Amino acid sequence: MNLARRMESFAESATMEVAGRIAQLNAQGKNVISFAAGEPDFDTPDFIKEAAIKAIRDGLNKYTPVAGNDAIKTAIIEFTKKTLGVEYQKNEVIASLGAKHSLYNISQALFDEWDEVIIFSPYWVSYPNQVLLAGAKPVFVNCPAANGFNPDIEDLKAKITSATKAIIINSPCNPTGAVFSAETIRKIAEIAVNDDVYLISDEIYDAIVYEGARPLSPVTLGDDVKRRTVLVNGFSKTFSMTGWRMGYALGPAPLVAAMTKLQGQSTSNPVTPMQFASVAALKDLSFLAPRVEEFRKRRDAMVAAFNALEGVACVNPAGAFYAFPDFSGWIGKSIDGEAIKDSVHLTNLLIDKAGVGPVPGVAFGAENFLRFSYALSMAQIEEGIQRLRAFAAKLS
Ligand SMILES: *Cc1c(COP(=O)(O)O)cnc(C)c1O
Repeated sequence: MNLARRMESFAESATMEVAGRIAQLNAQGKNVISFAAGEPDFDTPDFIKEAAIKAIRDGLNKYTPVAGNDAIKTAIIEFTKKTLGVEYQKNEVIASLGAKHSLYNISQALFDEWDEVIIFSPYWVSYPNQVLLAGAKPVFVNCPAANGFNPDIEDLKAKITSATKAIIINSPCNPTGAVFSAETIRKIAEIAVNDDVYLISDEIYDAIVYEGARPLSPVTLGDDVKRRTVLVNGFSKTFSMTGWRMGYALGPAPLVAAMTKLQGQSTSNPVTPMQFASVAALKDLSFLAPRVEEFRKRRDAMVAAFNALEGVACVNPAGAFYAFPDFSGWIGKSIDGEAIKDSVHLTNLLIDKAGVGPVPGVAFGAENFLRFSYALSMAQIEEGIQRLRAFAAKLS
C-alpha cells in the first residue's frame, strides 16, 4: 500500500493501544485489572439520555449549522459565563465531535510548518501528534514531579523562540492529575502576552477536582490574555459522555471561523441529537459531586498504596482521575530472574505476571513513570493493590 507520507509523521494513540490490548487479553480469558481507562466508569446520567431520546423522537435529526445550533452555542456561552464569569459571542464558539476534535481543528487552523508549539511534559498523548500532523514542531517543557508537576518557568522562558506560535496548557492534567497553581498560570499568561504567543487551554477536567482545588483559567486574566487564548472543554469527562463525541472551543472569532471552515469540509456539525442532549447536560451538574467524592476516595486509597511500596513515589493528584507514580526504584530490579528495563517493560510484566494493567509513562513523555486511572471500582482497586504488593514482594 502506498500511503501518504504524512501518515509516518505521527504515532497511534498509545493509551488506546494499551487499553485495547488489555481488553483483548481479558476476552481470551485472562484476568487483568485495567487501570488504563481514559474515561469515567460511571454511566451517562439518565436526564441526559432522556434529552437525547426526546430529541431523536422529536425529529431533531437533520444537519445543523457546522459549528453547532443556536441552542448549544447559547448553552455553552451561558455555562462559561456562570463557571468562569467570562463572556463570549456566538461567533467565538464552535461545537465539535469531542474536545480532541476541537484540538485537532485548532492545530490545523493555527499551526504552519516550522511553527514551534510548547507542550508541558508529562503530556496528553495527542498534543505532540496533532502538532506533528500539522507539520509543526513540538517543544517540550518539563514539569518535574518534585515541583508537583508544575512547569519550570525558567525552562519555559528558555524554550520560547521567534518561531513559538502557541503554548498548550492542560490543568487539571492528564496524565499527572496536577492542577497548575494560580501563580504558574499567571506566569505562563504573562509570557504569552509579552512574547505574542497563543494559549490553548484544555480544561476538560476542570469539574473533577478535590479539596477545593481551583484550576485557574487563563481566560479569566483579562482581555490581553483572553484574546490570545482558545479554551477547550467537552462533555466526555464531566458528564461521562465519552462515546457521544461532544466538545467545544471558545476563542477569537477569526480562529473560530477558520475552524468552522475546516469542520465544514470534514465532519460538518456534531451529531444533532447529542447537541440537544448537551444543552440539557449543561443545565444541571447536581449529579457530579457524589461522583467526584467517589473518585477522591479511590485516589486516596491508590496514592497511599503507591507511597507504601518501596521504590515508588506518588504525588497526590488534585484533579482528573489519574495517579502518576514514579517507579524509578523498580527499574533495574529483577522479577523471576528478568531485569526490568523501562516503563514499557514494567507495564508488560505487570500485565503478564500481576494481572494489573497501567499505561507506561513513556507514552506521556515520562520514562519510569506509570499512569494508573482510578476510573474503576474500589473493589477492583483494592484487588489491584494486593496484586501490586505480591509483585513487589517478588522483586530482587
Ligand atoms: C479525554 C481527553 C480529551 C478529549 O476528550 P473528548 O472525548 O475528545 O472530548 C482531551 N484532552 C484531554 C487531556 C483528555 O484527557
